[in-house]
Amino acid sequence: MLKRLLNLFTSKDSSKVSSAAPNGAIAIPRDQHNISRKNISQAAIRIIKQLEDSGFSAYLVGGGVRDLLLGNHPKDFDVATNARPEEVKRLFRSARIVGRRFQIVHVRMGREVIEVTTFRGHHEDTSQHSSRSEDGMLLRDNVYGTLETDAMRRDFTVNALYYTLKDFSVIDYCKGMDDLKSRTLRMIGDPATRYKEDPVRMLRALRFAAKLGFNIEPKTAKPIRELGSLLLNVSDARLFEEVLKLFLGGSATATFSLMREYDLLVHLFPGTDTALKAGDTLGASLVEQCMINTDKRIRADKTVTPAFIYAALLWPALQQQFQLLSGKMTPAQAWTQAATNTINLQLTRTAIPKRFLIPMREIWDLQQRLPSRLGMRALRTLDHPRFRAAYDFLLMREAAGEALDGLGVWWTNYQTATEDEREQMVKEVARQSKTGGATKPRRRRSPRKPRGDAAPGGNE
Ligand code: ATP
Ligand code: MG
Repeated sequence: MLKRLLNLFTSKDSSKVSSAAPNGAIAIPRDQHNISRKNISQAAIRIIKQLEDSGFSAYLVGGGVRDLLLGNHPKDFDVATNARPEEVKRLFRSARIVGRRFQIVHVRMGREVIEVTTFRGHHEDTSQHSSRSEDGMLLRDNVYGTLETDAMRRDFTVNALYYTLKDFSVIDYCKGMDDLKSRTLRMIGDPATRYKEDPVRMLRALRFAAKLGFNIEPKTAKPIRELGSLLLNVSDARLFEEVLKLFLGGSATATFSLMREYDLLVHLFPGTDTALKAGDTLGASLVEQCMINTDKRIRADKTVTPAFIYAALLWPALQQQFQLLSGKMTPAQAWTQAATNTINLQLTRTAIPKRFLIPMREIWDLQQRLPSRLGMRALRTLDHPRFRAAYDFLLMREAAGEALDGLGVWWTNYQTATEDEREQMVKEVARQSKTGGATKPRRRRSPRKPRGDAAPGGNE
């Protein structure tokens, strides 16, 4: 049976902050939920116990509780406590306070890092530790409160379930359990206000809906299309991180399709959005293919590089730019300019750290080099440090429906061929190009530049 919680969860700090009374919290006792201690990270358990032993209250919260209740394997565990960040830091030698807008403490235990957050309060309660922009965005949110106020400050009801080690019950202030059962993603409070406070919550809505296979409750879904442009107020660095979460969580395919459905792509990848809206079906298919591959690799515990994902996500924008510029300059110049324009536009939305930007350009530029195989060119391309990624990208283009005259198979065979076989393969390309086969390389621009024809815009 569900039993009502009265004032069982008033915390040390609650007297300082007036808290809005919750609709009524319920506690789901141990025998009525499926969370077993053995599925919880030992590090999180030790942190909670230590906080409790020191007189604080502490709970497991967020994705860890949600995913355990759903029978899934949690990605990480978050702890909520009434201990202030400095108090947490004093208790754990490995603790580090991170974040300014929203202070959290990272406690490292062995190989695990547990995020410990102090109960949030209502930011209206005091202006000293919180501030808002004109659009209603919370610029700082370090107002502390009680378990109840903390629940109200979380994003979705299913993310606001607290598990306590005191009696192993789950505490639910926002009817999160009902939403979990009906697989509904529901924003706590007024959705538009909450999106204005933090526009990233719109991306989180799509990410969780895709990952959990939940329906977004209509009132939670409605403002997303209208408020999408608020994402422009979020820092480019944070948006880059959020984009990675969108596509590296194992549900990139579903997330991408929701992003198009809710028209958020235009705010994150405007160049690609324009190309797709102009009817670039091949580009849409390439991005989708990339998402399918990414999900497969994540499921198989293989690595995925953001450079590759960005190379695919921006490919339609690059192609559109290339077409626009092609008539106006040489193909090599058009390619370089198209890449520069595409990157510059993208950098107005999300950051792309150099360590990803450079390999992304190499993947693109190698696409121009892969068809040119005469002489030593194939060998040189094979030796390029980014060959493997570029080859995978080529296969993906073909899988997306691009007609490349068997180039993927050629490169597949070339990699395992003997030296003699490779020579024959190159001769065959030369023979076909003479007879007007589709593999004919582009005519040289200048005899003085032996590599000039190899790659329009190739590795500058
Ligand atoms: P996962 O870790 O599986 O991606 P999660 O729900 O744990 O999902 P985190 O980003 O780890 O997501 O955040 C932990 C919890 O903190 C969330 O469950 C939610 O309760 C709260 N939270 C995180 N980001 C926000 C936000 N922007 N607004 C309000 N609450 C948030
Ligand atoms: Mg989490």
